[in-house]
Amino acid sequence: MSQEAFLPFALPELGDEEIAEIADTLKSGWITTGPKTRRFEESFRTFLGDEALHCLAVNSATAGLHLALEAFGVGPGDEVITTTHTFTATAEVIRYLGADVTLVDIDPNSLCINPLLVEEAITPRTKAIVPVHYAGLSADIPALLKLARPRGLKVIEDAAHALPATSEGRLVGTLDSDATVFSFYANKTMTTGEGGMVVTRDDAVAKRMKVMRLHGIDRDAFDRFRSERPAWYYEVVAPGFKYNLTDIAAAIGLMQLTKLPRFLQRRQYLAARYRKALQALPLVCPPDAPEGEVHAWHLYVIRLSPNARITRDELIQQLSERGIGTSVHYIPLHRQPYWRDLYELKPEMFPCSEAAYQSMLSIPLFTAMTDQDQDRVVEALHEILT
Ligand SMILES: *Cc1c(COP(=O)(O)O)cnc(C)c1O
Repeated sequence: MSQEAFLPFALPELGDEEIAEIADTLKSGWITTGPKTRRFEESFRTFLGDEALHCLAVNSATAGLHLALEAFGVGPGDEVITTTHTFTATAEVIRYLGADVTLVDIDPNSLCINPLLVEEAITPRTKAIVPVHYAGLSADIPALLKLARPRGLKVIEDAAHALPATSEGRLVGTLDSDATVFSFYANKTMTTGEGGMVVTRDDAVAKRMKVMRLHGIDRDAFDRFRSERPAWYYEVVAPGFKYNLTDIAAAIGLMQLTKLPRFLQRRQYLAARYRKALQALPLVCPPDAPEGEVHAWHLYVIRLSPNARITRDELIQQLSERGIGTSVHYIPLHRQPYWRDLYELKPEMFPCSEAAYQSMLSIPLFTAMTDQDQDRVVEALHEILT
């Protein structure tokens, strides 16, 4: 990328392999959910390395979260606890089902949901907990399971940032929670354009999600044309959704998955390089994963130190003037009009999320960026901050 070109904060890396696989799909005549989606689900399970897992491809992580909560029976009168420091998708699906959202504050270091505050937020109406592995660092799932299990609560992981990440040496997706949902949105660690994967070991829940993924029909389109029953016959057992992934998207996913180990290496390399290059500046760099654990490095979120002589908004502006894209992850949900007004939320109720929000920005981190691209970001930060 030349000095003049705008450097975005994220960009997918797609190559000839994806193009060839899409072309193969188009030529096959089977463009909606079919053989490639099935192969993608199988490859994903192989990647996670757990034969007991059901992996269901869906057209977004939002869809996957909705399906999982629905399958676990979340409904009107229930409460689901999640973090205020997330994208609205994590919480909106709870409202789709008529349940209430209980937002809690984050740990000031990891920026993941704080289990101590989760414990305080549990009521007799609480049905589930939805942690987010913020930026690709695993949330404290063991602590959440310790709260959830004796009370019969479900834990559904929003793992949109966490492919691949580990907790206690195990890949997110194979932990002891009830379901895990990954995103393949364009800026995530791998992409299908739009897409997601919902993963569970619970046979009954997997069956329900499979039915609800496609109109509440008892078998998907691919099966319909291959089973012994006549092709035209199907049964509707519930008012389901339209959440299936297309084979065109699955074709991209199959190739992205083969590249994921290399993508991870590149992200780890860039994250380590940022940490070293930024250490002298009035910034707080994001925490590494604990020793022996994997951080997926979906985002590189820096925070301005109190002694920096510039505001976060000014820093974003000055980086933008130098052609460097940034973003803020996230404007906390308690600040969004819908959530704020519905639950009468005030910034003082979420001091850690507030402090992080006021000082944070996400700087460019994507596999296709060159070392020179990164040097540009580092030099700009040095220029602006010293
Ligand atoms: C991207 C994202 C989602 C939604 O993913 P989609 O695949 O776009 O539906 C949900 N939660 C978090 C934390 C995300 O970053």
